[in-house]
Parts: sequence; C-alpha cells; structure tokens
Amino acid sequence: MKPRSSAAQPSLPGNFLRQAINQDLERGTYSTRRWGGSPGDARHHAGGAPDIARIRTRFPPEPNGYLHIGHAKSISVNFGLARAYQGVCHLRFDDTNPEKEDVEYVESIKDSVRWLGFDWEVGGTSHLYHASDYFDFMYRAAEYLIEAGLAYVDEQSAGQLRDHRGDFARPGVNSPFRDRSAAENLRRFRQMRDGELQEGAAILRAKIDMASPNINLRDPTLYRIKYAQHHSSGSRWCIYPMYAFAHPIEDALENITHSIATLEFEDQRPFYDWLLQHLAQGGLINTPPPRQYEFARLNLTYVVTSKRKLKQLVDEGHVGGWDDPRMPTIAGLRRRGYTPGALQLFADRIGVSKADSWIDYPVLEGALRDDLEPSSARAMVVLDPVRLVVTNWDEAMGPGHLEPCSAPVHPRDPERGERTFSFGRDLWVERADYSESPSPDFFRLSPGKLVRLKYGYVIQCTGAVKSGTGAVTEIHARLLPETKSGTAGAAAVKVKGTITWVGVADCVQAEVRLFDRLFTVPQPGAGERSFLEELNAASVKVVTAYGEPSLRQTLPEQRVQFERQGYFVADRHDHQPDRGELVFNRTTTLT
Ligand code: ATP
Ligand code: MG
Repeated sequence: MKPRSSAAQPSLPGNFLRQAINQDLERGTYSTRRWGGSPGDARHHAGGAPDIARIRTRFPPEPNGYLHIGHAKSISVNFGLARAYQGVCHLRFDDTNPEKEDVEYVESIKDSVRWLGFDWEVGGTSHLYHASDYFDFMYRAAEYLIEAGLAYVDEQSAGQLRDHRGDFARPGVNSPFRDRSAAENLRRFRQMRDGELQEGAAILRAKIDMASPNINLRDPTLYRIKYAQHHSSGSRWCIYPMYAFAHPIEDALENITHSIATLEFEDQRPFYDWLLQHLAQGGLINTPPPRQYEFARLNLTYVVTSKRKLKQLVDEGHVGGWDDPRMPTIAGLRRRGYTPGALQLFADRIGVSKADSWIDYPVLEGALRDDLEPSSARAMVVLDPVRLVVTNWDEAMGPGHLEPCSAPVHPRDPERGERTFSFGRDLWVERADYSESPSPDFFRLSPGKLVRLKYGYVIQCTGAVKSGTGAVTEIHARLLPETKSGTAGAAAVKVKGTITWVGVADCVQAEVRLFDRLFTVPQPGAGERSFLEELNAASVKVVTAYGEPSLRQTLPEQRVQFERQGYFVADRHDHQPDRGELVFNRTTTLT
C-alpha cells in the first residue's frame, strides 16, 4: 500500500470500513463510473456525467416503525462516511414488502435523520429513493437470469422445499423442476406474474448449488407470489422480490459503492456478489458493482432494539407512544433530552467493529453527560419539597424581606450571565436533606447542624414539626445573617454541607417526570421470560416540584442541569411556559 498523508484521512471510527474506502479511492475502483442523475440501469448511467460523489453509501430503513438507537449508529456510519469522504448517502425506503406503509413512519424516519444532523439532499439533488420504484427493473433482471439459465420456477410444496434444502450437516437435494428449459421457466414465471397461480404454488429460484456449504447459495428464492396491495404500486404486482434479491439490485441501480450491512448479512455476501456479477455480465447494471461490508449491530444493555418488539410496547400500551421518553427510538431519546451531539459522541466512542457485543448503557449515558455538561444552563429545583422556615428572619432581615441572590447560568462560562432568585423566611428544601438522627457522614440538615443554602446564607437547623404519623411537615432553622454567598462574611463560618433550595415567594411549580430504565435486566427477553415480563414497573414517577424563577424562560426542548439532581429537558410537547405549564423530563442523573 502506498503511504498516505494522515491529514487527509478523516478521523472516524470504523477502521476497516475506512481502509476499504481508502483503498478503493487509491486504486480508483469507482473513479470512472458515471451517474445518470438518478438511479437506473447500465444504459441510464452510461449516459450521465462522471459521478462526482467519491463514494456512495445508503441508509435503507424499512418503513415499518420508528428508528431506534441501533439505526442511529447505522446512520452515523453511512452518512458520516459519506460526509467525511465527499460522498453522498442515500436515504432509501426499503418498501419491497407489500405491507401497509405508514406515512407516520416515513415522516418520523426523515425527521430522525435530519435531527441527527444529516441530509440526503446534496448540491440541490435529493437522494431520497424508494426500493419499490425498482420493481420493473427487478422483474427484468429475473427474466434475464431465467434466459441465462441462472433461475428457474420451482413448484415443490413448502414441505418439499424445506426437506430438500438440507441443513448445515446435509447438502440439499436438487428440485425436480431444476432442469426445465429457459422457455418453460419464462412461460411459468410470466404466469406467476399474471396471477394465474395461487400463493405458494410456485417460486422463482436462482440456480446455484444445492450442495453449497453456504445455505444461502442453495438455489435461494428470488420471487414469491403474494396477492397483496402495495402502498405505491397498488395491485400491479402479485409477485414480489425477496430481500436477498432486491437489496443488491437497489444498491446497484443507485450506484452505491460501499453497501454497509450488519453482520447477519455476512453469509448473504456471496449471493450479493453472484447476482451483481451476473447482472453486470449481462450489461444490465453499472460497473463495477457495489460491494457489501458488514459491521456488528449495536446491542445496548437494558434496551430492546427490535422494531417488532418496540411496536408491541406501543400497541399494547406499555409506553405512551413511539416517542415515549423511555423508548430507545430516536424520537423517544430526543424527547428524553438526548442530543444529536451525544449520540454522535456515543457512536464515535463505540466505533465500528466486526464482532458482536453488548455495549453497557452507562457508555451511552457517559457520552450524554459529557455533551450536556458544558452546554446546559443550571437551575435549582426541589423535587420532593418540604418547607423550611427561617425563624429569626423577620428580626434579622426585616418582616417580609426578600433578599436577592444570584448564581451563574453556567459555572465555567461567565458570558452566559447570571440567574436571580430571592431568599426569604420560607423556603423549599429536599425532604431527604433533613435527618433527625443522622449518620456520622450526613452533613445536611439536622438539629444543631450548620448548613449553607447554596448561593444564599448559612443556617443552623433547630428542629422540625411533624404530623401525627411522624412525617416532617416543616423544618426550622436560624439564619446567620452575615454569611451571604459572595460577601466578605461568607467564609467566616465553616460548614460541611451545602444544599439546594428555592424560595416559596418566587418559585415556580413544575411537573417533573423522573424516568428510569424501561427494563429490569441487562438483556431483556434473552432468557426464559418474555421481554414484557422484564418491564420495569417503576420506570416513571411524576412529581410536582418547585424551581427557581428562571425556569419560566425555558423553551420546549431546552436542556437544564438541575443542580445536584441531574439533567432535565423541557418536554417538547407538554411544556408551555406561556400558559404557566412547566413540564420537565429527567434525561439522566448526574452520575
Ligand atoms: P429491526 O430488526 O429493528 O426491524 P432492521 O434491521 O430490520 O431492524 P431496517 O429498517 O431494515 O431495520 O434497518 C435499516 C438499517 O439499519 C439497516 O441497514 C440495518 O442494518 C441498520 N440497523 C438496524 N438495527 C441496527 C442495529 N441495532 N445496529 C446497527 N445497525 C442497525
Ligand atoms: Mg429489516
């Protein structure tokens, strides 16, 4: 290999993918290819200009659900590589299955890709494609294979097909239909197309090798009969291509150079190459054809990444919807307060590997905190409030006096300014910050102890009022008047504990949704039990909290660190400050 200037190499995860791309660029593997301005066959592209995209990748979701964190990884790999190499990444809706395509899914997929910071529109051209637009070509490719003696119509029963396939230990058995003439196969295939056969009566198969150790090469199915309405082609077709046949063709028509798949598709690669090689030989597709590369799919502990299971959670009402903040969908993560930057950082940190593994959820949370810490404004909020009365306030400060206090919006970024709030006789503090009989390492409120109220004064706790059941209803304390934070006397009194608080007089009320993991086990559904039995019954707790007045200015989706509590986000939908409705979701705790 020629030496490369390291400066020219983008710093991206996924060494083996970058190596493959670097090698192709050095060798000029795809440098002479032309691009017809849109997807198409060999002739279409031959009539176009040299392809200015140095590489083409694609992200090909099936529009049958919302995208999840695993897709976010695939998006960052495919769109990220295209961006880094001055290439183009296509967004392709893989809609070859005649199922009801939901417009909601299509829109949510587009939203998610854009929200992550990527775009399929490059230089004024939208590279948004639909696999179903290629049905005509796929049919033509099938007829070509039949004529070339490379495909045949098989009319064995489902049971025979299964029995004759063999398994890892046994080779398959040739179908009695395998040696039909091309003319007979063509006639039968057209009858399939024309609706003259029942579902299951016949399939089109590639003619490769029933004894191949790779079961995917044992005459794989190319087309099946299915009497179904397709969302875009309607009832025009009653035969539909199998994924293994459709996908390589989609890549080829779109001039994809590097087709990046997950590891399950590794065994499909020989068929991918077989098919495209024959179609290229027949002059049907642009050359050289795309190549497939595989990387390990993302598995994240405590998280389910299967659209089918996620759909079940939604359909059965276990969560509030696809964008429930507990869902690992991109829409759910967004509503939970995750940022595109955090997801990118996570993708960069885990990299792209060739070996399946589970990533620990805290790795994602670590990336999240690292992204949120420098950007989030700060605020004090009391989530489980109990009243604290400063019993000497009136004599020390004057009856009804409210003392203005301030704190930086961000502790290391003075340019972001200050937030202000007031200290008075009545305050809210956290219930857990009081203990009547504290352990030796408890330095917060307990009778006789000195504590600093952050950005405010030092107080000395004198006791608490309790209800009949023994619950603390009010904490009492005395102010040490000369101890205000930021004044000369602040350091005069040494305290071991500092707590957060808000003033009863100027605080705002907010609904705060405290989320926890949706599942109780690291690998939901992996053992004997159904993943539904492993749902965390306490995955959300809603509390009425009191926060400092600056929260009134927060906009939906704004992220705030509640000091000592964690990172929170104003809910995209329910937070309506102009109507006085403040709603925050806990994104994650501080540690
Ligand atoms: P699911 O099983 O959740 O339905 P899928 O792979 O069937 O996932 P697609 O819509 O077909 O979903 O996926 C679109 C792209 O996203 C594919 O290229 C697929 O490889 C990739 N992808 C899906 N899940 C993951 C994952 N967990 N990690 C990495 N890539 C993924
Ligand atoms: Mg799929």
